[in-house]
Formats: sequence, structure tokens, C-alpha cells
Amino acid sequence: MTKQPHAFDKNAFQLSVQKHLSATYAHTVENADSRAWYLAMGRALAEITTINLLETEADERVVNAKSVNYLSLEFLIGRLTGNNLINMGLYESVTEAMAEMGQNLTDLLEEERDPSLGNGGLGRLAACFMDSLAAQEFPSVGYGLHYEYGLFKQSFAEGRQQEAPDAWRGVEGYPWEVARPELAQEIGFYGHVESYDDNGVQRRRWVPSMYVKAMPWDVPVVGYQSNTVYPLRLWECQAIAPFSLESFNNGNYFEAQHALIDAGNITKVLYPNDNHEKGKTLRLMQQFFHSSASVRDILRRHLDAGLALADLSKQETIQLNDTHPTIAIPELMRILMDEYHLDWDAAWAISSKTFAYTNHTLLPEALETWSESLIQHLLPRHMEIIYEINHRFLQEVRAKWPGDVAKQQKLSIIQEGFNRVVRMANLCVIGSYAVNGVAALHSELVKRDLFPEFDALYPTRLHNVTNGVTPRRWLKFCNPGLSELVSEIVGNDWPKHLEQLEAVSQYAKDAAFQKRYMAVKRENKQRLADWVKTNLDIEISADAIFDVQIKRLHEYKRQHLNLLHILSLYHRLLNEPGFDMAPRVVFFAAKAAPGYHLAKEIIFAINKVAEKVNNDPRIGGKLKVVFIPDYRVSMAEMIIPAADVSEQISTAGKEASGTGNMKMALNGALTIGTMDGANVEIREEVGDDNIYIFGLEVDEVEALKAQGYNPFEYYHADPLLKASMDLLLGEEFTPGQPGLLRATYDSLLDGGDPYLCLADFASYVKAHEAMDKQYRDKAGWAQKAILNTALVGKFTSDRSIRDYVDNIWQLKAINR
Ligand SMILES: *Cc1c(COP(=O)(O)O)cnc(C)c1O
Repeated sequence: MTKQPHAFDKNAFQLSVQKHLSATYAHTVENADSRAWYLAMGRALAEITTINLLETEADERVVNAKSVNYLSLEFLIGRLTGNNLINMGLYESVTEAMAEMGQNLTDLLEEERDPSLGNGGLGRLAACFMDSLAAQEFPSVGYGLHYEYGLFKQSFAEGRQQEAPDAWRGVEGYPWEVARPELAQEIGFYGHVESYDDNGVQRRRWVPSMYVKAMPWDVPVVGYQSNTVYPLRLWECQAIAPFSLESFNNGNYFEAQHALIDAGNITKVLYPNDNHEKGKTLRLMQQFFHSSASVRDILRRHLDAGLALADLSKQETIQLNDTHPTIAIPELMRILMDEYHLDWDAAWAISSKTFAYTNHTLLPEALETWSESLIQHLLPRHMEIIYEINHRFLQEVRAKWPGDVAKQQKLSIIQEGFNRVVRMANLCVIGSYAVNGVAALHSELVKRDLFPEFDALYPTRLHNVTNGVTPRRWLKFCNPGLSELVSEIVGNDWPKHLEQLEAVSQYAKDAAFQKRYMAVKRENKQRLADWVKTNLDIEISADAIFDVQIKRLHEYKRQHLNLLHILSLYHRLLNEPGFDMAPRVVFFAAKAAPGYHLAKEIIFAINKVAEKVNNDPRIGGKLKVVFIPDYRVSMAEMIIPAADVSEQISTAGKEASGTGNMKMALNGALTIGTMDGANVEIREEVGDDNIYIFGLEVDEVEALKAQGYNPFEYYHADPLLKASMDLLLGEEFTPGQPGLLRATYDSLLDGGDPYLCLADFASYVKAHEAMDKQYRDKAGWAQKAILNTALVGKFTSDRSIRDYVDNIWQLKAINR
């Protein structure tokens, strides 16, 4: 049983807010604006969570229990204040306390800028997992980077994406984080390796030629209605002072400053690529900086607890969120051998039982490799250790498949060739005791297509852990109307036991309940419509179907297939006599990586089509297209509760799991989707009648590709497809500038349509027609929406974490 959180003392809290308003932020009650009030309130709340953090950290039961260390280059946490109030059980009390001081809590929460320390799904998953670890009181530390600039801010200028830096901490600093200078680490780079004689034992040691400081900032991860708070520890790179005494003393002040500038650069900015690796030096420096600081902190905690190094894997497990922190494996080996003088076998016995790795993608462009010469230059000792790991591993391969050189080449950590590269995924599989995919289908494909030989060598190593989302943020906080409604039926425990929502399914056919459920949906739609009117000056009706695709812009996610559907509706409204459709608003929100040309052209095309369609009197307002700029967690929190239709239309086999699909189904949107990622499992849960599945399945995609896919065949055979696509060729959407939208058109024909949009078009249109028809049957639609909410309890990230705990981490909850 969870203990009641500490009693809330309203007077003390109000005094604390006022003290921070004046002493910390230099405002008087009279002149303070909303931002000052938000900051002061944030600091007052963070005082409570910091004390709980220190108490949790010092708790003997926690110190002596096994912990998971979740290593991720990204944590897309979103705003913390509202969510932390929910988890602290203080939402109502603080609303009242602030109201007594003349402040509206909802307005103050809008003052918080999203900490966008991640790109998309992978970073958001890490944030949901931290929430679920704390909620279930599993000892845990999240380790990430304290980027000065998070994911860029997106705006549109004449339909084209513009990027601006995201200074998320503001000038005042972020109220929820606390610096832990006593836990700072020093991190080396470059230099050389030397041998030396240690009382007759030959040893190796790395002599770096550059050092920087890793300063930890702790962000509290608040347990749900408990006093347990675990840290999300974000490392900031700082120069070590005195940076270069020599150049300083030489009077070369400016040269000395270079060290400061370089050091600041390492955590200056988040790389904005999602599912795409670019191999830049600074990115590898970020990765090593993150891995080294985190591994050292884990060892410090272990040794401070008075435990033996040999017992590390009994006390600590290290989960690698994708291959980005892979260098932690050779770093732990190096520290154990070179600093603690363990021999190879002893070090490997520890390391190989400590690390576990999560694979997030099969896309070849996302599988990380690093040039051997870059690693050699930046981390010479780590390169030696990688060679040794590989040497010993290849002996195993030769023993298993004698004489099979092709196998050795395929499995080797080093990819041979003119520019030799290190394959990080291979290193991860070899150096980990468990490897998991993120949805059942994805994990099957990892076994079948990506790592079949590893599966043969290590038959118990590969697992599945289907992703999940935290119901605290993605239902209770973001959709209070629906939360109250379900609480009336199932009580108040569902945020911790989401499977209890199943009881709601008994009301799916209840007319009175349907009415209330759809009234909540309509309120959420109206709120979004108001936001769109105020911020984008587009008029939309809350009675229309809200058809939503919100996710990173990627060819494999096929926003351009959605665009083709929009074009087909537009064409039919104008040209097909008797064509009728329910009024529809298609929402997009998506950032494109700044260097991803086609993704940016697709954004441009959608914006240009939207401009014309939204203002075309001929279609009588039946179709609207809204591209909401700057997609981020706080926008997702507003859009998702308002969605009727959830677009999950990736080419089968390309989306590892998806989590947006889970958030929207939970909030009562019906999925239109392919048999990809977790869509497959959502279908299993909600049933075939309550989801719209279309398109080629994985095996059909592979067969079509193998036989030689020709998009022109589909283009010429389907008049609706041809008419829809041809709209992109003229000046329909770009008056006076014909052909401005050609890039998207060309990618689908001359470009070969690598993600098979044209092959899936007809079946996608049919699925949409079926949905459109269903939407006009209000009761039938309500029933399906209710069943989606009721039947997706499996996709709580609490269940994902329990799967990790039971099958991989072997932790015990510490109920404080
Ligand atoms: C959930 C979420 C994602 C992941 O969306 P997918 O549809 O699974 O790709 C990306 N960004 C934000 C802000 C999210 O909240």
C-alpha cells in the first residue's frame, strides 16, 4: 500500500510562493506578472520534491535495493508543473491556494515552456518510463543530457518550415531542476594510450589530452500520490577552471577562453534528427560525455553503499535506450580494468550482466555506425577495447559456424571496407544480457530480419517489451472531462491500474453514457477549435470529424499518403456529382529535421493545399486542413483529447511501435492504420470492429518490393489517384507558380515511392469511406470510441515497466 503523501500546509505554501516571488525572482506581489507567479509557484513546489528526492535517495531500503539506470540521450518530458501537481495529489489544493492570491492556476501553467529535450517517440517513451518507475516505486535513475537548447522551435513562413533555437530554461532558469555540484564528474577526450608495469603486471592506461566537467542537474520524477521521488539526472558540460593555466599565464587570455567555449558546446544543442544518424564528431562527444558521466555516477553510488564491484550487476542494471549510449559498454570495461585493475574476464563478467539494450528501429539509415578512425582519435582506449570484445566474439562465431567467413563479416562489430566503421547495434547485442524490441511485431522482425544469427548464438537474449504511455499525463492530466467520467464508473484507482477501464465497456451501448462521453469529446474539440481560431485564424466546426496525424515528419510515416487522401476528397467535392462526405478537419503537427529536404517539401505542400482548400467557397466548408506549428508535448496534450480519428499509416514493417497511437485510442479516437508496430496489438485489444485497418502487410510489402514495385502502374490504373496527384503539378495551390509542389509528386513516381504510398492508396481511401459512413451513425461511433478508451489498458507504461522488471531487470518495489 502506498502511504498518504505529506499533508499540505496551505499557509506555509503561500508564504513560500511569496518568498520566492520577492527573494528569488525580485517581484512584488503588486507588480508580478503571470510568469513571475508561475516561477515562484514552481520553486515552492520544487522545494517539496527536492526534499522528497533527498529522502528517497537516503532511504536505506532504496540504497540497498537493485536499481535500474535508464540511459537515454533524450527525455522529452514536456511541462512538469501540471503533471507534478497531479502526481503530488495537490492539483485542487494548489488551485485554491493560488486563487486566494489572485492567480488562476490554468493561466500560470501556460507560462511554462516545454523542456523539449528529445525529438519524438523515443524521448517521450523515456519520459513515460520514468513516470511509471516512480509511480510503482521501482528504484531508478534516469540519465540524460542537459541541453542548453532543446528541439528547435518551428514556425511557418509562406508555408515553409523555419527553425529557431529553443532556450527552454528562459533567462531565470527552470524552477524544477536543482544542481548537484557535489556529484560532478571529470570527463576526458582525445590523447593517447600507454603501457606501464604495475608490480610486474602489464597494464594499459588512457591519457586524455582534454578534460571537461560534467555537472548534474536533478529533475524530480514524482511518484503517483506517494512521497517517492527519483532523479532524472541531466549532465551539463562545463569547462574545468582554471581551464588552461599555461595560456592564461602567458597572457593569452583569448586562447584560454577557447577551452570554455569548446566545453560549453558539447551539451549546447540537441541533434534534431529522428530515426537518422549523421556521424558527426560533436554527437559522438555528446554520447561519450553522457555515458562516461553516467557510468561513473552509477559506480559512485554502488561503492558509496559499501558494495563490492563484483556485485555490480546484482545491484545495478543499465538500460540503453537505443544505441546512442553504447559507448558506456567499453567505458565500464575500461574503468574496471584500467582504474580498478580487474582482469578482462572479471570485468566482462560484470559488464555483460549489467547492460541491456532496447532496439527502436530496423531502418538502415537509423542504425548507428561510427567511423573507426574517429573513435580511434577521440577515444583511443575504447577502440582497443572494442577490438578485444570483437576478437573474442569472433572466436565464438567461428566455433559455432566453422569456416563461414560470410557469417563472421556480417556479425563482426567492425564493418570492413575502405572506411571501416563500428556497428553500435552489434556491440550492444554482444555486450548486453538482454535485447528487446518495442512491440510484438517489431521484436519478431528484430529476430527474423535484423539479428537472426545473434538469436541462434544467444537463444534467450532477445525479448519483446511492448511500449506504453503514462495514463497520468495522457488521460488524467490532459483530459480532465473524460477522467471524471471514467472515475464515476470505475473509481479513482485507474491511473495506477489502467486495466480497470475495461469496466467502462459495459456502458458502450448505454445511450445516456454515450451522450456524456461524446459531450466531453465535443468540449475538447471546441477548445481546440478556439485555439485554432485565435492562433491560426482558421474557422473550423467542432461538429466535423477531427482527423489527426501528429508525429515527426518522415517518409515512412507517410504524411504524404494522408495528403493524397485530402487531395482525393477535394477532387471529388469539385468533380464528382452526388459525392457527399461528413465535414472533416484534417490536423497535422510535425517537425522535419532541418536537413531532411523531402520532409520539408511535404510540409510546404500540405500548407499550400490547406491555404487553398480552407478558402475555397465551392466546397462549402466540408473540408479543412490545419497544420499546427511547433508540435511538442503541450500541443499533443491539447490535440489528443480532441481527436476523432488517429492516423497511424506507416508502411508495414517500418514503425517499430508508435506511442501516439496508444495516446489517441485511450482518449477515444478510432485508429485508421496499417498492420504495423503496436497497431497490431491495439487491434487485438479493441477488436476488428473498432479499428480501421488497411494496406499491405509486412510480407506483402516485402513480396511487392522483391517482384519490382512500379508506382506508375498504380498511377495509370487508378483515375482517382491520378487526378489527386496531378493536382500537385499545376498552379492550383501555388497561383502563378506551377510545379512548386513537384518534389512530393516526383518522390512518388520517378523517385520510386519507396514507402509504397500508391500501392496502399486505394485501400486507404476505402477505409476512410467506411469511417465517414460510420461517423454519421452517432451512436455507433460513440460505442466504438468508448470501447477504445475501455480496452487499451494494456498500453499503460506501468505494464511496460512491469514487463522489464519481471523479464529483464528483476527489481523489487520499495513502497515508502
Ligand atoms: C507521443 C509523442 C510522439 C510519438 O508519436 P508517434 O505517433 O508514436 O510517432 C512524438 N512527439 C510527441 C510530442 C509526443 O507526445
